[in-house]
Amino acid sequence: MHRIYNFSAGPAVLPREVLEQARDELVNWQGCGMSVMEMSHRGKEFTAIAQAAEADFRDLMQVPANYRILFMQGGAIAQNAIIPMNLLGDKATVDYVVTGIWSEKSQKEARKYAQVNIAATAEATGHTTVPAMAEWRLSADPAYLFTCTNETIGGVEFPFEPDLAQIGRAEVPVVADMSSHILSRPVDIAKYGLIFGGAQKNIGPAGLTFVIVRDDLLGRAMKPCPSAFDYRIVADNQSMYNTPPTYSLYIAGLVFRWLQAQGGVAAMEKVNIAKAALLYEALDRDAFYTTKVVPACRSRMNVPFFLKDDSLNATFLSEAATAGLMQLKGHKSVGGMRASIYNAMPLAGVQALVAFLHDFSRRYG
Ligand SMILES: *Cc1c(COP(=O)(O)O)cnc(C)c1O
Repeated sequence: MHRIYNFSAGPAVLPREVLEQARDELVNWQGCGMSVMEMSHRGKEFTAIAQAAEADFRDLMQVPANYRILFMQGGAIAQNAIIPMNLLGDKATVDYVVTGIWSEKSQKEARKYAQVNIAATAEATGHTTVPAMAEWRLSADPAYLFTCTNETIGGVEFPFEPDLAQIGRAEVPVVADMSSHILSRPVDIAKYGLIFGGAQKNIGPAGLTFVIVRDDLLGRAMKPCPSAFDYRIVADNQSMYNTPPTYSLYIAGLVFRWLQAQGGVAAMEKVNIAKAALLYEALDRDAFYTTKVVPACRSRMNVPFFLKDDSLNATFLSEAATAGLMQLKGHKSVGGMRASIYNAMPLAGVQALVAFLHDFSRRYG
């Protein structure tokens, strides 16, 4: 069966093997006579699916025992409100590092719940870089410091892990939106208080939100926080306080198994480095294309680029589609093109894109 190469930023490509397994199990999951979609979330079959997914995610990300993994709904955007509602506690202020559209949106939402201090922003550079930690200006007593460690739209990825111990503020928990690069590289979870994201970039179908939270941060939710969004309640109920998005969680579990079969996150990182290098080298080598992000902060997952002559954009996209290279149009706020090359994008897909880039510039350049 023919499959295109899908460079969408999200919902995004899934591993073919996972889709085929889901197809084979769709009507009758492992001989139980029903689909995963039809199962009670409290029955023994689905309980086993959910527990395996959580255990495999914990194993892949090397999550320490004092962190809880929560599966929620509402996506990363809902977490922009759920995080301050849960973590503000008796403090007044929260700190944000702004590196693009997603962290900007996050700090705006937090203003409904707390006083927001912008600890650092790369706005003056057009969000093409990540401010060095030495330049971050934390407030006196923030409840947390927020970062978006991979800006999906701008294509900016932190080249370092935020580590407030290095600037003498180890007591402040770091929160990180990792929606678009979770599982693409190893992460030292112990450096963070909370990591979260939507599943539809690098994990599975939309509808599922993951939260990895240090257990001392549970139990601080403000009174008006909905019970279904109170981390303590979600944790105490093993993410089953309300019905989880069962089918999305099942597919996520298949993706976790697929990642383990690829050799885990460290092995994926090697492939991701190779794929990103291949694409950026092709763009750098050819004056027909430009990029904006400073090389040290280039995302391995989301690669925005521009044609020197943007009157050729429509032709580029239509010829790319004919070549089976889909969803390359850049985000409307940035323009140009964007290739998202998540874990499930095979090296062959990046090679096909690079060959097309070369061919297109030869014919139109
Ligand atoms: C996609 C994305 C979001 C938004 O996720 P939703 O699931 O639509 O709420 C937020 N942050 C980042 C970094 C993203 O890539």
